[in-house]
Amino acid sequence: CHQDLFVGLDFGTSGARAHVIQNGGKLEADFRQEYKEGGELDWADAWQTALWQLLKRLDSVDKSRIGALAIDGTSSTCMLVNQDTLEVVSAPQLYNATQLTSSVQAVKEIAPPGHTATASTSALCKMMTWHNTGTWQKAEVERKRPCLLHQADWLAALLHGQTRHSDWNNALKLGFDPALPGYPPWLMSQPYAGMLPRHVHAPGEAIATITAEAAARTGLPADCLICAGTTDSNAAFIAAGVTQPGEAVTSLGSTLAVKLLSETRVDRAEYGIYSHRLGDAWLVGGASNTGGAVLKQFFSSAKLKELSARIDASSPSPLQYYPLTCPGERFPINDPALEPCMEPRPQGDADFLHGLLEGIARVEAQAYGRLEELGATHLTKVVTAGGGAANEAWTNIRSRVLGVPVIASPHGEAAHGAALLAQQGFHEHRRLHAHTTCLNPRGGG
Ligand code: ADP
Repeated sequence: CHQDLFVGLDFGTSGARAHVIQNGGKLEADFRQEYKEGGELDWADAWQTALWQLLKRLDSVDKSRIGALAIDGTSSTCMLVNQDTLEVVSAPQLYNATQLTSSVQAVKEIAPPGHTATASTSALCKMMTWHNTGTWQKAEVERKRPCLLHQADWLAALLHGQTRHSDWNNALKLGFDPALPGYPPWLMSQPYAGMLPRHVHAPGEAIATITAEAAARTGLPADCLICAGTTDSNAAFIAAGVTQPGEAVTSLGSTLAVKLLSETRVDRAEYGIYSHRLGDAWLVGGASNTGGAVLKQFFSSAKLKELSARIDASSPSPLQYYPLTCPGERFPINDPALEPCMEPRPQGDADFLHGLLEGIARVEAQAYGRLEELGATHLTKVVTAGGGAANEAWTNIRSRVLGVPVIASPHGEAAHGAALLAQQGFHEHRRLHAHTTCLNPRGGG
């Protein structure tokens, strides 16, 4: 067996990305494909076009060495497709498409209080809209065999050709319970239950080998495995290489998001905390409104760099700030009226920035403290992603305040995480089918 390359595809908001990795995770090649332009963008068509274009562009790598591929997509982006032909029956509803109040209300009536599927952009609220507007019933009558697939599910299905497959992470906001694992009774009793993905896999699990048609079209080997994918933010977490409970990824973008790998599951709607399942562990996440957007309010990127270099990170700032762009916080403090605190402002800009960075670091520490208090595994290490990861002074401040090592993520790209999932799925599949896979590789690879 000579398959030692793995492909991850990430379908983001403006374009798609491919990472090809070697066995062990080293990057072999990466490619980016913008979605095609157009006033009224047909999203499904744009994704599909990008999928084939990206796979064609892998020509600079030896495709015969590719053993497996996995795809991540934006969370709760879903569509109705014909389960036999995979043709689009109802156009995709994007991750951020807020659903009608009536749909959200209908979901709240069936789901447990505070369930993540009750968010107004959830896949289940989208399913409810297709139900309440009669969209799927009409498609049924027209014998279009409608089923719901997430963006990542559908794109993977174009490659593996199987019917109604998804993964634990994409299906979470559809109401899937990864602890069972399965759909809970309150969901299975709904009239549209027959349209939900039927085979919901652990992320990375091998679904099937690529279809002959897709292999011919892309040049991928006939025995290339198509593995179950994940959501984009989970893929970005996986890319950071965190594998042990207690290790975490902080994303320092416009806002501050934390994700901690935990042995226990934590779901607390009032704090906006919920858990994804990854293997045998739980990825517990929460997001604060503090973050880089506050810094941007005061300083340009160049100024941030210049001032940061002047900060003595080893000594604590005396300023007790809670930086926010506007009042209101959900996590780690649940208070919709929480006032920002960024005063008094000292004379020197570097001192002011020191106070802001230290304030955000304290919120981060409070966030992990809250997760632990609610039952998650104790924090041991933080990997940083996002725009703030490059700030060395901040990293040192955070390490001091958090009391654990803080490092920058070697790979922030979601596509890299998807490729790691493909690698994992390939090796698991091989362990399970050691004889058949190695003695009789289909297509001669
Ligand atoms: P998002 O995708 O959430 O918009 P990014 O991950 O691209 O965010 O990060 C952008 C943020 O990073 C900005 O809000 C900016 O304030 C912050 N940022 C950029 N450079 C620095 C720096 N040197 N130090 C701290 N923060 C920075």
